[in-house]
Formats: sequence, C-alpha cells, structure tokens
Amino acid sequence: MSKIVGIDLGTTNSLVAVVDSGIPYVLADADGQRLTPSVVYFPSATGQPMVGRTANRVRALHPTETVYSIKRFMGRRGVDIPTEETRMPYPVVGNGNGPVTVALHGRQWTPEEISAEILKKLKADAEKSLGETISRAVITVPAYFNDAQRNATIRAGELAGLKVERIVNEPTAAALAYGLDRLQEQSRIAVYDLGGGTFDLSILELSQGTFQVLSTNGNTRLGGDDIDRCVTDFLLREIGRADGPQLDPDQPALSVGDLSILARVREAAETAKIQLSTESAADVSLPFLTPGFSFSLRLTRSVLEELALPILERTRAHCLRSLSDARLSAGDLHQVILVGGQTRMPLVRRLVSQWFGCVEFTEQRGDVRLGEEYHQTPGPQLNTGVHPDEAVALGAAIQAEILAGGFRHLLLLDVTPLSLGIETFGGLMYPIIPRNTTIPVKAGELFTTAVDHQKSMLIHVLQGERERARDNWSLGRFEIEFESAPKGVPRVGVQFEIDANGVLHVLARDVKTGHQKIVTMKSAVDVADSEVQRMVEESVEQAFDDLRFRQWTEAKRTASDTLTATRKTMAEYDSELDPEYRTQIIEAMDAVEKVLELENRSTKTGDPAALKAATARLDEVTQALASHAMDQVMEAMLRKKGVLPASVGPA
Ligand code: ADP
Ligand code: MG
Repeated sequence: MSKIVGIDLGTTNSLVAVVDSGIPYVLADADGQRLTPSVVYFPSATGQPMVGRTANRVRALHPTETVYSIKRFMGRRGVDIPTEETRMPYPVVGNGNGPVTVALHGRQWTPEEISAEILKKLKADAEKSLGETISRAVITVPAYFNDAQRNATIRAGELAGLKVERIVNEPTAAALAYGLDRLQEQSRIAVYDLGGGTFDLSILELSQGTFQVLSTNGNTRLGGDDIDRCVTDFLLREIGRADGPQLDPDQPALSVGDLSILARVREAAETAKIQLSTESAADVSLPFLTPGFSFSLRLTRSVLEELALPILERTRAHCLRSLSDARLSAGDLHQVILVGGQTRMPLVRRLVSQWFGCVEFTEQRGDVRLGEEYHQTPGPQLNTGVHPDEAVALGAAIQAEILAGGFRHLLLLDVTPLSLGIETFGGLMYPIIPRNTTIPVKAGELFTTAVDHQKSMLIHVLQGERERARDNWSLGRFEIEFESAPKGVPRVGVQFEIDANGVLHVLARDVKTGHQKIVTMKSAVDVADSEVQRMVEESVEQAFDDLRFRQWTEAKRTASDTLTATRKTMAEYDSELDPEYRTQIIEAMDAVEKVLELENRSTKTGDPAALKAATARLDEVTQALASHAMDQVMEAMLRKKGVLPASVGPA
C-alpha cells in the first residue's frame, strides 16, 4: 500500500509532508524548497501550466494569465461572492448559481481544476523525493469551509490523481503538529493563523483524544500581503522622494515597465519583512530600477512594526469574537498556538501574548514544554515550538500516518468509527461501545434469555449505527452454553474490549457457572472512511423507520410477556374468576392480539403506540387478577412456614 501524504493546500503557499519512521517532515522540491507558492501560470491554451515559484516570478509580467489565491473561490458560486471580490488581475467569472470559473485562453477553468495543478506539482515533487508513487493524501481546509468547499477540495485531489483519505481542519492539524493531542486532560487551545491573505482564530477543545472546533472567526482579506503592501507603499514614497520613478500601484493602466518595477519593489518589501523577523535592520537594495536610477535604504524593525501595527491590530477583534462565540475568556485557554508564515514576526508574538495574557513568552524555539505545568499557571501558554508555516502540513502528515495504522502510541486519537454491539431479541442491535469512543476501552452488559429452557445463547457481534441487527455489519458470531433454565433466569455477561491496536475481543460468561469464551474479532477501528460515512448517513436517513422498528419490537416483547403471564394466571385461577371479569380480560387480550396481527410481514413493524395502549389496558384489567394471585401465593407461603393459623377469622 502506498504512503499517504499530508497536504496543506494554502491560499498563498502549499506544502506536502510525510511521516518517516515516526518523524513528520515537510518534503522539498527539486530546488530544495519546502514552500510551493499556490500560483499557476497558463502560458497558452494547450501548454503545460507552470506552478509554484516559477509561476510566481512571471506573475507581474502576465497578470491576466497567472492565477493566485484560487482557494478563495473553491466550492463557491457566482452568487456567493460579492463583485469586488472577483476583481483579480486574472478574469474571474461568477455565473449566478454556477461555480466561479477563471477564463483563460478561451477556456473556463474551475477552481478545483486550478488547485489540481498545484496538487499535481506537490504529488510529483513528493514522488521524486520519496522515490515511489503517491496516490493517497490527507488535505487540510480552513475550519470554516462548508461542504461545497470541502467537496471541491476532494475533487481537486481526485483530478490530481490523489485519493483524498480525509479532509482535516487546519487548526486541528496544527494542534496535532504541536503534539497537543498528548495533553492528558481536557484542554482548550486557540489557534492564531495569520497567512498571506487570510486570518483565522479558531478555538479547539481537546476532550478524550478528539479535537472539536468550538468557534472560528477571521477575515479572508487580511494577512501578510497587507503588510507587504504597506511596506511597498512606504518604499515607493521613498523612491519618489529620492527622485526615482513616481509610481502609484493603484493606478489602473500601468505600463509593462512600471509593472516590472512594481514587482521588484514588492518582492524587496516582502524579503525585507521576512529578514526583519530575525534581524533588527535590513538593507533594501534595488539597483537600476530605471536605467538611470538605483535605490537603496536601510529598513529597521521598528519602522516595519510601525507600518504593520494597524494591520495586526485588526486581528484582535476576531480573537475576541471567536472567544465570545465559544463563551470563553482568554483565561479559560490552556494554550495559544501560532500558525502561518506571518506569525514568525516578533511583533505578532508580542501582541498575541499580550492580548491573551500569556504567561510564558519565548522567541526561542523548542523550549516550551507542553502539558506538565500549563494548568498551574494563570494564563494560557504561548506555543511557538513548530515552524508556524509548516505546522498545518505536518499535522496533515501525522493524521495520514494515523490512518495508515502508524503512531500507535498516539492512542488518544483513535476512536471507534462505528458502534459495536450484539444482536438481541427481535433482531435489534444492542450497542455496547458507542461510536466515537476513545480506545483502548472495555465495556460490558448482562443479558438474559427470552425463551424458556434455552441451553445456549448466540452472541452475534455487530458494528454499525442501525437499529435492526441485519442492517449492521456482522463481525462474527459464537455460542455460549449454560444450564437450561426458565427464560429470564440465566445471566450472561458480555464484555467488549478493544485493545491498543484496535482489535476487538469479545468475552461471554455464564455468571452462574463461570463458564466463559473469548473470541477475537478483526480490527474494530480500521474501517474505510467512506463506508463509515455511508453507514452514518443511512442511519440518519432511515432514523424514522429504524426507531419505529425498535419501538415496535420492544412493545411486542412487553405485549407477549403480558399475554403469557395473563394466560398462565388465568389458567391457574380459572375456577375463582367471575365470568364477567373473565370476559373483560379475554377482550383485553384479544385487543392486544389484534394489534399484533396487523404487523407488516415484510418490514416486521406495526403501530407501536396502539400496541402500547392495548398492553397498558390489559395490564390495568388484570390488576385485580394479579393482586389476587399474589395474595394466594403469599398466603400459601406463610401457611407453609406456619406463620398463619389454618383458619383466619374472629375467634
Ligand atoms: P497561507 O496559509 O495563506 O498559504 P503562509 O502560512 O505560507 O500562507 O504565510 C505566508 C505569509 O507569511 C506571507 O505573507 C509571507 O510573507 C509571510 N512570511 C513567511 N515567512 C515569514 C517570516 N519569516 N517573517 C514574517 N513573515 C513571513
Ligand atoms: Mg495556511
């Protein structure tokens, strides 16, 4: 089976990662680069599209044929997108209810087709790096992506020749990369993700090994690009002041020459910004911007911070909003983690740390210890141990490895994908371990017989979410023998244990004799995602019918128990019964039988409400008979014990 790779399909940059011998790492392309700009250049109608760094380089020269930030349009319809958002240098076509497309060389490209080009490059790079064919991937998406956007991502994968084994939320993947799944108790984590063009603040809760997104808030038009733009504007002003070319980037029709100057200034701005994350000053040098003009300037970190501060301040409101949506305050958080290339900027770390009241703040990597002491501190811990722009891809790779059966020690993450149980009376499924239970786990129940003098019980082990045993998957069956006894007397304990490897062991024990059997079933955890999804969907679709079947089966059992008991008591006390009362009882019994006869032969269901009502009526009518029977039994018993005199009455 081929390796499953983890892919961060980002708005600005995409990455592919794998786990090798337990260590997750990002794969590099032939040039040793680990980040692939999510940019595709279409040179002609038939020519091979160019992807990544090379495409990014020609972007300024071929603005109408170079597509970037395509992720913004994934799975969206024309009507969903405000017109101003479709204004890109390349022609975006929003067709009402149809998908947004990009018109290139007389052809409409869907966002998933363009994303597929990025994925194809990542796939090819990974294959070259690993020396094997790659056909399966885990791909991440923002937590706020809806079904259409997630499905478009899956289609993009398929178009690139990848089977998408799972779609994972970006903040969840990041938390995985930070090893936060290993926190022992329930914990709450804020993921602050500032990328090139988007900002998200997600609050996650880790409970029993699974992450739940409590809230997510952000801005799809806010990111590192805005800082680049500010720095570019600043540099253009300085260039103008130094008698260089006067350029206004917002001017609609720039000449090719101006465009290429602008592209160089933009590139220099971003390079300086990145350099200033680790250094206190950066030399911007732009030789021969025009044949007669060269430009250079020393940019300091404090100038950059002044330019960036208003942009970063805008993320704060989203943090507050996300917290309030989750009904939490910063003090309720245990961890704040930083994700996205822009969070490498020291100012971002300082601001986030301030806003969230983080107790520990370090710019050094790898020295923040997780899990042990965080709960003793008053505020959340700011976590900066992983490369922030790689965290999402690494988490995707970790998820991929878990799906492939690796990382057995990360047991907390494995949950039962479907409920496990046994078949009980009337063909019902009786769940013993519900779906989504963290493994390893042990759980059990006591069962009894429904028929007199049974000598054994069939343990039919089932997996699934349906009420009818036959609609679930049969994992196996075996018999447990016991001493024959009237129904309801034998006690059989059934215990399910899922071990650390996801293997299910079923134990059945006759409580009276201690006789037991243990049968090992196949793995209860390794089930294809698609099948799990189908099972869950079917259980939702059929919920109404299923419920009716369960109610009917249970009502039928009560009805038949009541009928049997009534018949028995009547036979015993027949001579003592008043004829009118006997008729009343028989009528009530007939009424129950009548509802039972109306059972639909094929669906094996009837009207549970009517049956319950008829049974309740029979119960009511037989009250007097039952208490009479009880009195008789009591009296006989006491007499036998010599407590009562042989005749009762006044002396
Ligand atoms: P996305 O998730 O949107 O694809 P990334 O997480 O790759 O984006 O972030 C890209 C942004 O991060 C760009 O604006 C880039 O300039 C910025 N960035 C990358 N490295 C650094 C750094 N060392 N310091 C500051 N900003 C950086
Ligand atoms: Mg990202």
